[in-house]
Amino acid sequence: MRTAAVAGAAAPLAAGAASHEITALAPSPLYASLGVKPVINGVGVVTVLGGSIMPPEVVRAMEEAGRFFIPLLELERKVGARLAELLRAPAAMVTCGAASAITVGTAACLSQGDAAKLRQLPGRDGIRYEVIQQKTHRSGYEHQMELCGAKVVTVETRAELDAAINERTGMMFFLNKAEHDGNIKAEDWVKVGRERGVPTMNDAASDATPKENLWKYTKLGFDLVIFSGGKALRGPQASGLLLGRKDLIEASYPAMSPYGGIGRGMKVGKEELCGLLAAVELYLKADHAAEWKRLEARVATIRGALKGARGVKTERHIPVIANEVPHVVVNWDEAALGMTSQQVQERLMKGEPSIHVQRPGEGKLLISVWMMRGDEPRITGGRLREIFGA
Ligand SMILES: *Cc1c(COP(=O)(O)O)cnc(C)c1O
Repeated sequence: MRTAAVAGAAAPLAAGAASHEITALAPSPLYASLGVKPVINGVGVVTVLGGSIMPPEVVRAMEEAGRFFIPLLELERKVGARLAELLRAPAAMVTCGAASAITVGTAACLSQGDAAKLRQLPGRDGIRYEVIQQKTHRSGYEHQMELCGAKVVTVETRAELDAAINERTGMMFFLNKAEHDGNIKAEDWVKVGRERGVPTMNDAASDATPKENLWKYTKLGFDLVIFSGGKALRGPQASGLLLGRKDLIEASYPAMSPYGGIGRGMKVGKEELCGLLAAVELYLKADHAAEWKRLEARVATIRGALKGARGVKTERHIPVIANEVPHVVVNWDEAALGMTSQQVQERLMKGEPSIHVQRPGEGKLLISVWMMRGDEPRITGGRLREIFGA
């Protein structure tokens, strides 16, 4: 795990200050009726636990949006224009998630704004269908490009990149959080794209902290930049942001619902449009320094609970680029304590309420306090203390 060199209370950060103080312990007749139990989220903003929690302002915007009929295409454009202004991007649009932004953005790059070519996708005839990415930037979201007919070509060095670009190259994909893992850094990726006339896409889905990142990558020169709406921004879980060049955003709209074609199944409703806009407005106004302090306090609570536990060490950890907020790492010698990290993870999960954390390796747990609420850090610390017999 890479830890950010600079941290501390002065660092700007994190999400909408106001979050529902409803916790995993609160009764939920709805989830109870479905037989689904809310959990304490010690993993962070991940899709499989429900993304993030929308602040009341966002819920209200969705509710109001849902009470009227409106010309949807007009709403899309108006919300897009407002987002572009707020996020200092040439243009913006709402997608139904970061993954869908990858697809519609790829479709725009491959079809180069030509409606006939867009209709033809995933067919490759006359299409610049090759997408170049660095091997270390494999994201697991390659399918989102391939469904446009793209063929992903991987490179490792600058020389390989230069040689890989040809008349079939339609896009150069960059995985933002892999910046430190690849030979070719963001600035050079952008520079090569510019020089060779190939549009560049940066998937920064989980990287909206600090908030300046929301305009950092478009300023850096990426033609398209992607963020999840349901992660740090605390918008609707099924929303995403595609930011960037005007002509490419223009070309992206017809790739998405309600137009027919490659992205017809990727619908963005009036509720998501208005919800994500409200979330972004709130996020930009939020007191990120105060939020950061709250996260530090939660980290201290969990670490404090494990103080004195024999054979257990804790540390504060701030991941680099993606999810750049304070976490807790718990370390122990599996053999010495007779407990594997898998066993501890399972015990946390099987408890009441269930606590979900990550297990990055042997004798190691990674706990995100970002999405915890109310008493959840104390409950999590207490459970760990019980398990480790402090
Ligand atoms: C979460 C994530 C996605 C997918 O985001 P959704 O909003 O769930 O579609 C894509 N790329 C990266 C790097 C992510 O972290």
